[in-house]
Amino acid sequence: MQKTDEEWRKQLTPGQYKILREHGTERPFSDTYDKFKKQGKGTYHCAGCGAELFSSREKFDAHCGWPAFFDASKHENLKTIKDTSFGMVRVEVRCKKCNGHLGHIFEGEGFKTPTDQRYCINGAVLKFVPDKPEAKSAAKEKAKKKQ
Ligand SMILES: [Zn+2]
Repeated sequence: MQKTDEEWRKQLTPGQYKILREHGTERPFSDTYDKFKKQGKGTYHCAGCGAELFSSREKFDAHCGWPAFFDASKHENLKTIKDTSFGMVRVEVRCKKCNGHLGHIFEGEGFKTPTDQRYCINGAVLKFVPDKPEAKSAAKEKAKKKQ
């Protein structure tokens, strides 16, 4: 997806533009982080292009002030780049479809998750789409309540 700078500025909020197009980082423990923590089941999409990136299944609370996932739900929509800015070696994660900056991946921090990875993502560039209650899962819920 190729868009001009002007088109991005029109489509995105100034905060989203700063993160996606200028590799900015939102401040920790922001309003979006509060909202993120309260969100239930659903999927997280790129605010730039709508591609699915993560889901609530990979979400965990890392207490770091930014939305954290231990894995992506759609690896094909993400790409990683070695980032050596600020004198650190980090792995940057971007949306593959629109090349928007999302955050970084940290590894081996000792979180009790299946991957020991932390996708540290800016909440402002994630669009949450709640799961639609399907007939099947509704039936399952009913069965659970009966037990
Ligand atoms: Zn995107």
